[in-house]
Amino acid sequence: KEYKGPSYEKTEQLKADHFPPAVYNIYKRPLLLHQGHMQWLYDHENKKYLDLFAGIVTVSVGHCHPKVVAALQNQINILWHTTNIYKQPKIYEYIEKLVSKFPGDLKVVYLVNSGSEANDLAILLAKAYTGNNDIISLQSSYHGYSTGLMALTASQSYRMPMPVPPGFYHTPLADPFRGYWGGWRDSISQVPGASCSTTGQDCDSADKYIHQLNEVLETSIPAGRLAAMFAESIQGVNGTVQFPKGYIRKAQQLVKKYGGLFVSDEVQTGFGRTGDHFWGFQGHGIMPDIVTMAKGIGNGFPMAAVVTTKEIAAAHAKAAYFNTFGGNPMASAVGSAVLDVIEEEQLQNNCKEVGKYFIEQLQQLQKHHPVIGDVRGKGLMLGIELVVPGTKTALPVTDVSEILEITKDNGVLFGRGGRWGNVLRIKPPMCINKENVDLAVDVLDKAIKQHLTAKSK
Ligand code: PMP
Repeated sequence: KEYKGPSYEKTEQLKADHFPPAVYNIYKRPLLLHQGHMQWLYDHENKKYLDLFAGIVTVSVGHCHPKVVAALQNQINILWHTTNIYKQPKIYEYIEKLVSKFPGDLKVVYLVNSGSEANDLAILLAKAYTGNNDIISLQSSYHGYSTGLMALTASQSYRMPMPVPPGFYHTPLADPFRGYWGGWRDSISQVPGASCSTTGQDCDSADKYIHQLNEVLETSIPAGRLAAMFAESIQGVNGTVQFPKGYIRKAQQLVKKYGGLFVSDEVQTGFGRTGDHFWGFQGHGIMPDIVTMAKGIGNGFPMAAVVTTKEIAAAHAKAAYFNTFGGNPMASAVGSAVLDVIEEEQLQNNCKEVGKYFIEQLQQLQKHHPVIGDVRGKGLMLGIELVVPGTKTALPVTDVSEILEITKDNGVLFGRGGRWGNVLRIKPPMCINKENVDLAVDVLDKAIKQHLTAKSK
């Protein structure tokens, strides 16, 4: 289709005049997107890009997936409405399907509008159920943006220099690449024949990070006041940090001992993305008390959810709950179609197969480029950490930006994250194939070479 929007220059002007300056773009010359189809995006000049970031892990089944588009179009012609005051059929069809994806007693669904809203509600539920106020999360985590969530999110880049609400604590990040204790993470098991004894990794690191968690629980949080711990299954915004094997399971056990609930933030890791399981927490062998999800749930349509047990939801019934748009007919129709597509097109399995291939190709690439310090992740939730060769020092942001700009100009869109902005994030629509992987790895290979050659001149 022909692009008919404002000119590129006009959008730059409007952005400068009317966008909040705190909003950032990945690229020096940001993309002006025009259309999308499955794993492909097209800019205003109809140049085609392989999308490896999916609007930050949001487009799960593919841009403008025809089945999801049809579900939305059908609904738009029938009923637009709110949720709480009357009943509408789509929400019932949807919650039945969504809940069938959960193990155990996770049976009550709150439908909301964004990941931030979901985590905000999860805080409320945990406090209501336990009667306690204190919440713990991992350092460098991102769990959403609001004046309250700024306390849960432990990432300096997203924290304004102002007091945050009391009762939030953070425990050192269990990061096998950069963390104090290193660690043996699951991805290493993707290397044939490797085990913690053969990789030189610390087999007991999970226990050491757990010891640190215990110290925070014992020293900083008043006795008996813990409401919950929040954690992702793989930390997303901070550059795809995979925890050492056993960490999440042990953390949940410890938190339970201290009277707290465990909240799994599946905003990025849910809906089959990690390949082995539908939910990331299943890869850790745990049963959370509350699960929050967003992004991929709607393939780009604004919607999110909190799933919990009947017992926990009952504690929230002390006051009425209202949410104008949560679970509206359009969102319910879209969410339902997304679940159908994941199943019909076996996208979870695709994440597993293509993800394994992707990580193998990146490990090969790493052998040729010492600037690649670490390759990690699971399924189609991958990270490439760029470093100053021979060290673990983060590659300076200016170099990372140059490399990203070259990959973009050559038609591949990587994401970016990490505490120093030096991790390339790969979280594409879950429909990508091995041919796409070959293209991405080739473009990255050439971009690194081109940048290093230009720099050495
Ligand atoms: N949790 C995680 C893990 C996220 O990555 C994000 C968004 N990046 C959120 C919560 C917040 O979601 P939203 O932007 O939809 O509010």
